[in-house]
Amino acid sequence: MSRLILFIILFLLLYAILRYLIKDMAVCRKKLSRKSEPEELVQDPYCQTYIPKRSAVKKKIAGRLLYFCNQKCMKNYINQTTQNHKKGLTNSNRFVML
Ligand SMILES: [Zn+2]
Repeated sequence: MSRLILFIILFLLLYAILRYLIKDMAVCRKKLSRKSEPEELVQDPYCQTYIPKRSAVKKKIAGRLLYFCNQKCMKNYINQTTQNHKKGLTNSNRFVML
């Protein structure tokens, strides 16, 4: 009989610990969700897609901080802007942007 009592006590103890842990986790989650601010979206000037600022590729171009969805878009955008600049510029000014 003593074994059964021990088993029940152990079971109750485990149950209490589990409940405590679950409660703690729920509190943690609430705290986290309260802390995390709404994700700020930025627009990729190349493909016009909106991406979360945190995961965007940042690049300062001509004094302006721009956000891109990936490295490829960033490179394409830089190429595009340098090509636009090339039209009106002489060869000596070609590498100013780079
Ligand atoms: Zn893009």
